[in-house]
Amino acid sequence: MTFQNTLECAKELDASDPLSKYREEFHYPQVNGKDVIYFTGNSLGLQPKRTQKFVDDVMKDWRELAVEGHFYAEKPWWDYHERLAEGLGKVVGAHPQEISVMNTLTVNLHLLMVSFYSPTEKRFKILCEEKAFPSDQYMLQSQTRFHGLKAEDTIVEVKKRPGEHHWRTEDFIQKIKEIGDELALVLIGGVNYYNGQVLDMKAITEAGKSVGAFVGWDLAHAVGNVELKLHDWNADFAAWCSYKYMNSGPGNASGIFVHERYLDKKDIPRFEGWWGTKKETRFLMQPEFDPIETADAWQLSNPPILSLAPYLASLELFDEVGMDALIAKQKKLTAFLEFVLHEVDKEVDSTFEIITPKERGCQLSVFLHGEGRPLFDYLMKEGVIVDWREPNVIRLAPAPFYCSFADMYNFGQVLKTGILSKSG
Ligand SMILES: *Cc1c(COP(=O)(O)O)cnc(C)c1O
Repeated sequence: MTFQNTLECAKELDASDPLSKYREEFHYPQVNGKDVIYFTGNSLGLQPKRTQKFVDDVMKDWRELAVEGHFYAEKPWWDYHERLAEGLGKVVGAHPQEISVMNTLTVNLHLLMVSFYSPTEKRFKILCEEKAFPSDQYMLQSQTRFHGLKAEDTIVEVKKRPGEHHWRTEDFIQKIKEIGDELALVLIGGVNYYNGQVLDMKAITEAGKSVGAFVGWDLAHAVGNVELKLHDWNADFAAWCSYKYMNSGPGNASGIFVHERYLDKKDIPRFEGWWGTKKETRFLMQPEFDPIETADAWQLSNPPILSLAPYLASLELFDEVGMDALIAKQKKLTAFLEFVLHEVDKEVDSTFEIITPKERGCQLSVFLHGEGRPLFDYLMKEGVIVDWREPNVIRLAPAPFYCSFADMYNFGQVLKTGILSKSG
């Protein structure tokens, strides 16, 4: 159907949306007695209603069983994390044995660099995107220092071309070829947090592998958002957080992917702990490390069960809906938002410039030329939760699980009123 910037059209789109019933599965903050329009699922996803029960179950087992919960809880704690591997495998395109859940994202990237970054005199360079997420920049810089190298001699950033707001795949590939056998590691955000661009992870992985480098992905903004095929793309490793599109709660546990070709390598450089040993013999407390032949070999500590519970609840929803259906809705919803923005743009005297390229997930980053902080304050006051970056960029991420087409229309009206009332 062709889009129209009317409530009627938006409601029709909602009526024919097979995922519309999942709105009911989430809690919404209230502003002015109404559910907010939530555009910041790329920062912290909403709480699924079913999460409470998963957490309550763990609290109950702890209360009633205490230490016995490790083996006799309804979902025993000693292998609780294994319940997440299959569902996550579907979300990221990996075999369950290639997945583990542990720690948090930056911590995991450091741990994975222990395994996949062993610089030598000849091969030591790291390739990333310019203006990577700050935590990733700090991580890479501190890793070079740890290895006695200088960041400026080691880290190569692929830049956008002058006047452009997105990266070009050929520029990544060109740079990879240029560095050639000096390149030790490619480590990039698969979906850029700022402009929302989805990089060609398949092509970049292939290029990195072809010069003999390891290739890893930070999937913070990609997981639960876009199609991923980590195994088939042949990536060496990846890590992501669970609190953005995965709706698992603030600061919650991170997932990792390690390609299956490394899973039986006992001598791989790795920081190890008791939760990486085979669970059958773990409690014999033997001195030798006997790694589990899955990505769980990278787990050091017994995992935080109270954190895994919300993650498991959320994965149940992902499993029920499936990435294909989520992606289909995400594309349509984002296209409708883009349409609404263009329509509103015609009626106001500011100009909107969408800097997100067509290779995108569910995020549009928009320059609101002629606008500033007062507009952001107005949107928030009217119950539209957006992310604002100075001076005038808003990032809008309509997550397909809980955002509706009517939300997009209503947002357009609030935006228009906010701009016109200021200039009027
Ligand atoms: C959100 C985000 C992080 C956050 O890292 P934490 O260790 O979970 O705090 C890291 N990298 C990228 C690209 C992100 O978008």
